[in-house]
Amino acid sequence: MVKSHLKSRVKSKETFILTINGGSSSIKFALFETSSLTRVLEGKIDRIGLKDATLTFSGKDKKDNVSQNISAGTYKAAVDVLISFLEKKLGKNAMNNMVAVGHRIVHGGLKYNKPEEVDKEMLAELHNIKSFSPEHLPGEILLMETFSKKFPGLKQIACFDTAFHREMPKVAHILPIPRKYYDKGIRRYGFHGISYSFLMDELSRISGKEYLGKIIIAHLGNGCSLAAVNKGKSVDTSMGFTPTAGIPMSTRSGDIDPGLVWYLARTERIDAEQFNKMINSQSGLFGVSEISSDMRDLLEKEEKDKDERAKEAIDLFCYQIRKFIGSYSAAMNGLDTLIFSAGIGENAPKIRKRICQHFGFLGIELDEKKNNANSEIISSKESKVIVRVIKTDEELMIAKIISSFIK
Ligand code: ADP
Repeated sequence: MVKSHLKSRVKSKETFILTINGGSSSIKFALFETSSLTRVLEGKIDRIGLKDATLTFSGKDKKDNVSQNISAGTYKAAVDVLISFLEKKLGKNAMNNMVAVGHRIVHGGLKYNKPEEVDKEMLAELHNIKSFSPEHLPGEILLMETFSKKFPGLKQIACFDTAFHREMPKVAHILPIPRKYYDKGIRRYGFHGISYSFLMDELSRISGKEYLGKIIIAHLGNGCSLAAVNKGKSVDTSMGFTPTAGIPMSTRSGDIDPGLVWYLARTERIDAEQFNKMINSQSGLFGVSEISSDMRDLLEKEEKDKDERAKEAIDLFCYQIRKFIGSYSAAMNGLDTLIFSAGIGENAPKIRKRICQHFGFLGIELDEKKNNANSEIISSKESKVIVRVIKTDEELMIAKIISSFIK
C-alpha cells in the first residue's frame, strides 16, 4: 500500500524532501512532499552494530507499518540499507524526484551558525571537529559523503543542532577553565537547536507578542535541555560543549561536580572512557532509579509500588529543572512564557505539576484541568507567566529549512 501509494506520487511528478537524523546507533528518516510539506513516510534503523538491527517505517496508512530485521553490522552497512530501501520504496528513479536531503548535524563547531549546503569544505571542517562529538559526527559525515557519491547532483543541507545558540552572549558560552581552551573552541554550544527553532516558529505563529518576550523552553525527551530565549534569541542553555551537561536525562547525568573525575579515577580506578560511559549511559533517571531510563516506567513504579528510588529519580529530575527555570528567570530579569515540549514535556502532567509547584513568587500558576488534558495553555487565567505545551517536530523543521533553500 505505502509502496503503490508512493510510487503513484512519484509518477505524478510530486517531488520530495528527505530528512535524515543520524544518531550514534540509529538513523531516523522522513520523507515530505515538497509542495505541501506533508509527511508521507517515516522510519528508523535501530541497533546499528548489533546482530538484531531493525528497520521500521510507517506510511500515511498505519496498516502499512513494518518492522524487519536487517543486516547492519556497521554504520556504512546501515546507510546502504537506507538507500536501497528508499530506492525500492519509491521506484527506480526515486532520487530524480528528490529535491534535497536535509541532515540533522549534532555539532557545527565554531564555524556554522546557520543551515548550509553541504560541500567539500564543510565536510573537511566537520572531519576536523569530529572529536567534538565522536559518537555522532562520524556517522553523520558518512551519511553525507555516501549520498554525495551516490547522487552527485542531489542538494544536501546540513542543519546544525548547535546553530540556534551560536549568538548567545559570551558570558553564557565561556567556560570557567583556562582561556586557552576557549580559543580552541571549547565553550558552551548547547544542543536541541532544531527543536527550539521549531518551537519558536510555532510560538511566533501563535503569538507574536509572546515570541518577543522572555521565554524558557524545556525540551524534555530522552535527551533533556532548557533554553532561555529573549526577544527571539537564545541567551543561555543547559547543555554545554557536549549534550551531557545540564539537567539529569534518561541516562545522562547532566551537571555534576567536575572534581569527581579525579576522585573516581583514584578510588575506583575509572578511566576517561569508563567515566564518559558512566555519565552518558549509566546515569540520570536510569542511574538514580536503577530501574529504568523511561519516565513512564518510573511514574508507574512510584505510584503502584511506592518505589523510593523511582521517586528520588523523579524528584531530582524536577528539582534540577526548577533550579534552571529559577536561574534563567534571574538571567533574563523576568519570565513571560514557559514552554514544555518533547516526550515528557508534552505528555506528563504530573511532571509539569511537580516542576511548576511553589513558583508563586515567579507568577507561575497551573490550571490543573488544563494541565491534565495536555492543553495548549496549561496556566491559569491569573498566572503572570503563560505556560504552554507545544509539540516539537524536528523532522518538519528540517523540511521547512530545506524548502526555504530550494525556493
Ligand atoms: P527522544 O529524545 O528519544 O526523541 P522522546 O521525546 O520521545 O525521546 O521522549 C521520551 C521520554 O518521554 C521517555 O522518558 C518517555 O517515558 C517519556 N514519555 C512519553 N510519553 C509519556 C507519558 N505519557 N508520560 C510520561 N512520560 C512520557
